[in-house]
Amino acid sequence: MSIELAGIHKQFGSFAALKNINLTVPTGELVALLGPSGSGKTTLLRIIAGLEQADQGSILFHGQDTSHYEVQQRQVGFVFQHYALFRHMTVFENVAFGLNVRPKNLRPSAKVIEEKVHQLLSLVRLDGFAGRYPSQLSGGQRQRVALARALAVEPQVLLLDEPFGALDAKVRKELRRWLRQLHDELHITSVFVTHDQEEALDVADRIVILNQGQIEQMGTPEEVYEQPKNAFVYNFLGNVNLFRGRIQQGRVRIGSLEIEAPEYAHHDDSGSIISYVRPYNLEIERSGHGQEYFRAKIVHIRAVGPTAFLELKREDTAELIEAELLKERYRELNLKIGETVFVKPKDLKIFLEDYCI
Ligand code: ATP
Repeated sequence: MSIELAGIHKQFGSFAALKNINLTVPTGELVALLGPSGSGKTTLLRIIAGLEQADQGSILFHGQDTSHYEVQQRQVGFVFQHYALFRHMTVFENVAFGLNVRPKNLRPSAKVIEEKVHQLLSLVRLDGFAGRYPSQLSGGQRQRVALARALAVEPQVLLLDEPFGALDAKVRKELRRWLRQLHDELHITSVFVTHDQEEALDVADRIVILNQGQIEQMGTPEEVYEQPKNAFVYNFLGNVNLFRGRIQQGRVRIGSLEIEAPEYAHHDDSGSIISYVRPYNLEIERSGHGQEYFRAKIVHIRAVGPTAFLELKREDTAELIEAELLKERYRELNLKIGETVFVKPKDLKIFLEDYCI
């Protein structure tokens, strides 16, 4: 079932929580709504679910307008951050709930329900847990029960609101891999809300980046990461160093650094720019000439794992920056805290300040 949102607007009093949202989720796709706190992710998910009404715009499920449909008629399954399982019911009863409450003429027989629940428990790898109560499960197990319960009613659309938000980092990672696999098996059109960039990049087919109630960019994880449309997206997706500077006739000056910016070669005005560079795009050298390097002092080194992270203080502006080096290169340079090195930014992304958010 595809989902199409057109011109969605939502106002809470004088505050516009969503402004002209246009979004299509093709059948079977797993889409992440990613954005900072308050950007409108949950409001958008609740509007898709029918738990909240948009003030303007339309929502089509498989080409049909659902605006007037009751929540139950939309055939959506939900999983929320707090598992919200029924405490007084066993795992089996929790998963069976949605089927047991169906009107008699639509309710499957007890035998069919039993088979289905066991099938689902097997799918979420909780065979043998049917008789337990939620209090006897770990957080990750409860969240998997919540997912089995949502799937029991065979939803056409699965909506997940920070489903792993309350879990610790390791369990989170395990569950998101597992959600990806489950999605690949079942192909249910799914939309999940997260404020965790890594989670979205790791799991989603497509990412929708929201900011202040508007879509900043949408695309595959590679697209949004490699070709961020604006400064907000670049900054939001992962670790970056920010440099402020000025541009004039296609040349950018950032402190003592001066580099070509061919993309702005025909830009007439001089003006302020913000530029970003990822830590792994800072080259570190023992010596350097010319204006494409700046000098910085190493203030901290973290060399655990395959890469080494350096915290450096620029000599020209006294700003702190972060660089990431492959271990081999780090050993080759034999770097020590307190030493001054030459830093050359590669692949600097430049945004004119007037257009920055
Ligand atoms: P978070 O990651 O913190 O959950 P979010 O991106 O999901 O944030 P929403 O919950 O969608 O954000 O909220 C968007 C904005 O709308 C926020 O500024 C919030 O305060 C406001 N808002 C949400 N629900 C209501 C409401 N019922 N009444 C008034 N304002 C609301």
